[in-house]
Amino acid sequence: MTFEELGVRDDLLRAINDLGYLAPMPVQECVIPHLLNEESDVVALAQTGTGKTAAFGLPMLQRVDTSTRATQALILDPTRELCLQTASDLADYAKYIDQLSILPVYGGSSIESQIRALGKGVQVIVATPGRLLDLIKRKKVKLEQVNTVILDEADEMLNMGFVDDINEILTHVPEQRKMLLFSATMPKEIADIARNYMHDPKEFVIGTRNESSSNVKHIYYMVRANDKYLALKRIVDARPRIYGIVFTRTRAQAKEIADNLIQDGYNADALHGDLSQAQRDAVMKKFRERNLQLLVATDVAARGLDVDNLTHIISYALPDDNDIYNHRSGRTGRAGKTGTSICIIHSREQRKLKAIEKHIGKTIERREVPGPEEIIEKQIFALTDQLERVEVKEDEIAAYLPPVLKKLSWLSGEDLLKRLLSLEINRLLDYYRDAPVLDLPEKTERGRDKGDRKARGKREKDSRVAENGYERVFINVGKGDGFFAPDLIRMINQNTHGPQVGLGRIDLLGSYSLFDVRLGDAHRVISALKNLDYFGKRLYLEMAQEGKDYAGTGGNAPLKRNRAERRRAEREAWSDDLEFEPRRRGRSGKPRPHNRKGKAEELPFAMFRKKDGKKKDKKRK
Ligand code: AMP
Repeated sequence: MTFEELGVRDDLLRAINDLGYLAPMPVQECVIPHLLNEESDVVALAQTGTGKTAAFGLPMLQRVDTSTRATQALILDPTRELCLQTASDLADYAKYIDQLSILPVYGGSSIESQIRALGKGVQVIVATPGRLLDLIKRKKVKLEQVNTVILDEADEMLNMGFVDDINEILTHVPEQRKMLLFSATMPKEIADIARNYMHDPKEFVIGTRNESSSNVKHIYYMVRANDKYLALKRIVDARPRIYGIVFTRTRAQAKEIADNLIQDGYNADALHGDLSQAQRDAVMKKFRERNLQLLVATDVAARGLDVDNLTHIISYALPDDNDIYNHRSGRTGRAGKTGTSICIIHSREQRKLKAIEKHIGKTIERREVPGPEEIIEKQIFALTDQLERVEVKEDEIAAYLPPVLKKLSWLSGEDLLKRLLSLEINRLLDYYRDAPVLDLPEKTERGRDKGDRKARGKREKDSRVAENGYERVFINVGKGDGFFAPDLIRMINQNTHGPQVGLGRIDLLGSYSLFDVRLGDAHRVISALKNLDYFGKRLYLEMAQEGKDYAGTGGNAPLKRNRAERRRAEREAWSDDLEFEPRRRGRSGKPRPHNRKGKAEELPFAMFRKKDGKKKDKKRK
């Protein structure tokens, strides 16, 4: 069964497709066609995590007439959290419907601003009962045209003492409306509401939610090994409210990733065997109390940690033992919540991934690493959400408000909002401008098989073709000029300003070289290095052109460096721009350099290749 077959409209289909909903969940199969096609009301025994929001949300949105601003649907939720969550889910579903507005109204937040928003007319109201009743009494909501009423988590509303409020609210909505009641249990008071207010309700009982693993979504991203950290950051950036554990293979990796995340401004910390018991306790306490969003840990270190509300588990490295994957992913999707288990793999880990899929009996779906657009959109929504939720302490701000109001009086509300958003968004825009695609193309998915090796060989020969997400640059010096990768890196580091240049593959030829830089960085590199002097030879760079014959365009430098000079220059390059940290390992198993900012991911893989067939000087520091 597909959503289309259930009768869901195209614009809604597009939105749920964006969310990655592939097939309807059982509650959706029951409720959607009923609400779209049948007259009678619905009572559904379904819990959180069963997909009930889309079950009532999609058909409800489909029934809204956007040619009028009159309120047509009313959803009651027990708590402000749930109210905001429901409104946010509905907004996701409605993103392709023009002129549709959804407003959450709940206690503990300024009623004045809610009244102002209601004044503009909203077709869908998601409310907590107490606040809605308050608004009804002040005559600020008009419910005469409501045609759908949904009681979400009715038993929770009962537990919170809202039954009288609900009964009163229901007297204010028209007799002729569809009503849906969702509840995990059916106590007498809820059954009474159904009997008193619903017409010939059809009952659906949806399976329990605690079939633990069914609450966990399994997805994976496939990137180059060198891009794993970049991918991790993007995955986290696209989930601003993430609360999860990043699993690594070794304690050194846990420490390295946590350090990098902290340096890059994330709320993360590491849990590994090198910490003292007191340090471990402190980290775990911080994480349990949600003062820490991301815990980077090895499987062994995370053993003693029992936390219920994790939203995500990220396997930065796949475990060797499939059972360990089960333990990892079983840490999310608990206590009726849903969770996602994410694997970040490189192409050679595909076989392992397949074995895990077989072991858990589920498909691990491939996803594309979030791009700038998605990340910025998610961050804007998170900020908007924060703006809605922030507690305004009137007394605390009273003293500061008048001068601020005076200073900003020339700005309209919209201008202020734009500036507020820009404060956050500009940083992201700067970071993600021209960010490359990190996903490995399908054709490399066969990993190390013969065909792939062949393809790689071909690509390496045709050195004018850049890797995915990179651009190739030609430079008129090569090995014959004593020009090697460290020279290139040093020159780039010393002569470019602004964000670090992302370097990729470097192919050194006799009289010229070709190298990859991340999309968007090429012109900066070309103009920084062009016309510099390299041992008496004026440098020339351009975008590498496919099909152009570069042989002979470089020529030899008038002053060729001898071997000793070359090694000295190379050593200087390493010590100037790079630190050598023996624990880091490159693909080839050799220690991997990183710059002082610890941004190992931006450094070129080509650097780690042995160029002269000799071991690198161990004393290099
Ligand atoms: P709910 O019970 O509405 O809180 O939904 C539980 C979770 O399931 C939410 O994270 C939804 O985004 C997700 N969800 C709902 N319907 C589907 C579906 N058909 N396919 C995949 N995920 C879904």
